Formats: sequence, structure tokens, C-alpha cells
Amino acid sequence: MKTSIRALAKQHGFMLCTFCKPVIDAQNQVALDTWIEAKMYGEMDYMAEEVRTFRRKNPAHMLEGIQTVISLAMPYTPAFPHQARPEQGVIASYAHGDDYHEVMKKRLKALARDLDVLMGEHGQRVYVDTAPVLEHALAASGGLAWQGKHSLSIHREHGSWLMLAELFTTANLSPDAPASQHCGTCTACLDDCPTGAIVAPYVVDARLCISYLTIECKGFIPLELRSKMGNRIFGCDDCQLVCPWSQGVEPPENDLLKPREHTLLPNLAKLLRLDDAAFRAMFRKSPVKRTGRAGLLRNVCVAMGNSGHLDFVPDLLAVLDDESALIRGHAVWALAELAHDDGLVAEKVGLLKKKEENVQVLAEIAYFRGKYEH
Ligand code: SF4
Ligand code: SF4
Repeated sequence: MKTSIRALAKQHGFMLCTFCKPVIDAQNQVALDTWIEAKMYGEMDYMAEEVRTFRRKNPAHMLEGIQTVISLAMPYTPAFPHQARPEQGVIASYAHGDDYHEVMKKRLKALARDLDVLMGEHGQRVYVDTAPVLEHALAASGGLAWQGKHSLSIHREHGSWLMLAELFTTANLSPDAPASQHCGTCTACLDDCPTGAIVAPYVVDARLCISYLTIECKGFIPLELRSKMGNRIFGCDDCQLVCPWSQGVEPPENDLLKPREHTLLPNLAKLLRLDDAAFRAMFRKSPVKRTGRAGLLRNVCVAMGNSGHLDFVPDLLAVLDDESALIRGHAVWALAELAHDDGLVAEKVGLLKKKEENVQVLAEIAYFRGKYEH
């Protein structure tokens, strides 16, 4: 039966498929509690909700009569952001193609229908990313991949370039052997994280992580972290790129998340000129749409501020009257980094100050003035 399920999973694009009991071991439960107690979830308050935490620790409560968790993985193609020029932004590899939520959910549902045919109708639930499921712990429990010190799942052949999904089922299938750990004494991901977000092996403080800052964080990005973000405008792959297990990995044969040309290394100035309609058109069906226009353009401003590229100044000045305070504020910061000693730029920022009402933008203007007058 498991062989047939694996074959079906493969037909639907899930190249890896393993089986485990719906149980989270004590070590992972304690790690979750410690992470929540330290408030490392940042603005993602839902992560600390009691009911969600309980479900994370007790997957058996997610489906009545559950017997087995089937962990599934879809490999994707890593990108090579080190080729980026100063005028280009970097988007995390998983987000270069169609939105994995949509691609995988559709295929999971089709797989669940096929399993009903194979095993007779039975209880099933499918999950991709958004549900309270400790997917990396379950994947390790069934031997799909081990959890690396950067907290992501690593497979010997595909590295950590994997999107995970789960199918909870009432079918009683024998569990596979758990994965063994192969990080050894390596600490490359901890050493190379630009913001020091991997505060200990297996512990990522989301509040410092560029993935969180560029996607989940909805407000103003903490000032002290902006310069460490470089030109990353949606997510971050650095801890994966330095991992010895994730290098030299072949692109998957049938890449269902295959990259779109225009998201590979997008021109920052072109992105900053996007209005709402153009943003929606460009990122239709892409995970990048999740930030909304204001969130992405905020990140673009930060990347411009870090670029040392003076050609961006006119584009930044042009968004000083944008309706989004997030964009206005981060544009002022970028101007402070690039051109705080330019009298004309200071004049434009001064004009903004006269009409600005948002206190956070006013704080950014004060930061600019501080640098200008220094
Ligand atoms: S995604 Fe980037 S910022 Fe986050 S832990 Fe990895 S290297 Fe650090
Ligand atoms: S970089 Fe090293 S420590 Fe980090 S996940 Fe990879 S093998 Fe493990």
C-alpha cells in the first residue's frame, strides 16, 4: 500500500513521501514552548495562540480517528543571487514561480481523491504551510529529511530546496524510520546569517530573520536591521546557500514551481514605479503578492538605500508623495543613506515634512535631518 501511495504522490509532483505517527516528540514540544516564551514570533501573534500551540504539539487532535501523517515534499530550483548587480533585487528561490500554496493544495486534493479510490473512502485532511502543523518535525519523524541547524528540512539529494505538505489520514500505515542528523560540527548557517537570526542551533528568532522582515512584518522595519538586509526584497536564502548539503543540487526534473524570468533579478527602479494594478499584474499567482504593493515597495526602498547607487535618487524622490506611509517613510530612509548631503534632496524632504502627518514618517525625516545636519 505504501509503495502505491508513493507512486501516486510522485505522479502528483511530490517526489518525496514518508509516513509517521501523529506524534510530536518531547524535544520539539519544549523547543516550541521556549520559542514562544521568548516571543520570537514577532508580529505573528497567531503563532502564540493557545489553541494553535496545542494543535502543533498534538497533531492527533487535527483529525478524528487519525492514524498516520503522510509527509510530502516538492523540490524546487535554487536561484543564484550572488550574480545580482546593485540595481537588482533578490527574491527567495521558492518565490520565483507560481504560488506554492496554490500549486500544492490543488495537487494534494487530487492525491487525496486518488487515495480514496486506492484505499476506500476514509478521513483525510491536507495541509500546506498555513495550518498549525510542525511540518519539519513530522518530516524528520518519518525520515523524509532531517532538520538542519537553520531549522529547515534537509534531504541528501535535494538539499533544503523543498516545499513541504502533509496529508493526515485515518488509514493505519506503518511508520518509516526517523531521519538521522547530518549537520555534524558545521555551523555555516549560523555564522553566515546576515542578521544573526539563528540565535542557537535549530532556533531562528523570526524578529531578526530577513524572511520575516520582508514578508510577515507589516509595519516599519526596525532601523538597526535595514542595512543588514542588503538587496533582499522578498525572503532570504542565505542560510540555505551556504549549507554544504544545498550546494550543487540539480533542478528537479518536473519543476512545478519553475522560475519566471521577470522575478529572477528584478530591476529595483522598475519595481518602485509599480502602481497597484501593475503590481497585481506582475505578481499574479506569485507568492510575492502576499506583501501587497506597499510591503514590497517598502523592501525595495531598503534595498535601494543599501545599494550605494545614486541613480535611484530620482525614483525615491518620486515616491515621497505616495499614499502609503510605509513607502514614504522607507524612501526617506533610503535617501538618507544615499544622498543626505545633497541640498536639493534635503529641500524635497523638507517639503514633505511640512505636510506629513504620520508620526513614523516624521521620525524617518528626523533621521534624515540628523544625517544632513551632521
Ligand atoms: S533566512 Fe536569512 S535572515 Fe533568516 S535565518 Fe536564514 S540567513 Fe538568516
Ligand atoms: S549549514 Fe551546516 S549546520 Fe547549517 S543546516 Fe547546513 S549542514 Fe547544518
